[in-house]
Amino acid sequence: MKKSLLSLTALLLVAGASTAQEQVLNIYSARHYPTDEALYSGFTKATGIKLNRVDADDAGIIARLKAEGSASPADIILLVDASRLWRGENDGLFQPVKSALLDDAIPAQYRAKPTATGETAWFGFSTRARVIVYDKTKVNKDDVDTYEELGDPKNKGKLCIRSGSHPYNLSLFGAVTEHLGPVAAEQWLSGMVANMARAPKGGDTDQIKAVAAGECAIAVTNSYYLARMMRSQNPDDKAVTERVGVVFPNQQSWGTHVNIAGGAMARYSKNSANAVKFLEYLASPAAQEHFANGNNEWPIAKGVKINNPALQAMTRGGFKSETIPISVVGMNQVKVQQMLDRVGFK
Ligand code: FE
Repeated sequence: MKKSLLSLTALLLVAGASTAQEQVLNIYSARHYPTDEALYSGFTKATGIKLNRVDADDAGIIARLKAEGSASPADIILLVDASRLWRGENDGLFQPVKSALLDDAIPAQYRAKPTATGETAWFGFSTRARVIVYDKTKVNKDDVDTYEELGDPKNKGKLCIRSGSHPYNLSLFGAVTEHLGPVAAEQWLSGMVANMARAPKGGDTDQIKAVAAGECAIAVTNSYYLARMMRSQNPDDKAVTERVGVVFPNQQSWGTHVNIAGGAMARYSKNSANAVKFLEYLASPAAQEHFANGNNEWPIAKGVKINNPALQAMTRGGFKSETIPISVVGMNQVKVQQMLDRVGFK
């Protein structure tokens, strides 16, 4: 009896030792897309490294990292907005990375400014456009083909948009502030408040549905929400996308605002070599194609081609996007929030 207990203990010790050698990365992810499962399993299949995932929204992840401090088990942080990535960098939550592969694959516009020692705090891995949708039975495309027109009195009572403080809007407004200057940008925000069909509520998909339901005539959404509905088998979604038109704004001027989803190594990661391996995997053609075909985003890595029928239909082959470094939307976010408060944009 005693002998078998001892050997059981020995067995458990062996099992414990092998668990300790098992390679694991802890990922804190704000990507809220069920199609991402294939992205994670692709990495584990290729490397044998297991992924533990904690899902929360961008703000929740940043709060959790701050609360955990140096005891945080996080290795990788995935966020879905440029101003949040900028915030994470500036709050010291990331461990800047040196990777020739990533520097080469990801255009400088879509990653953090390099540190003095040539490392990068965060990288964008996919892009999404912030587009305007409109009721084709009520609105002329010409009246909504710029962001500026969202605040024009001719569109009074027509606009639906989610909360101004949501990161997607803070980043759009931060970009517009960069293009127009703060004075014109604040007048524009005030014009949008005057044009609202209802107080901001719901997510982007709710705004698209509100246009199709006739509650508003114009709305703002990330491109992938619309693409998802275009590819849906649900007849209600199909009916919605048949009624709404889409514009990629500002094609004649500075181009459509493009936000990123991206990632970073956590400041206190104890698995930095594997963490870099995971970030590099996200820039690989397989992962990039997954962003495009799973969640209807655009790949960022140079040279990756995709074939997504909904994105193709939306853009008719392509569109002009803004060329500002995406980190400026982070720098502008405090200014933008103050403007929103002043003009009463909830
Ligand atoms: Fe989203």
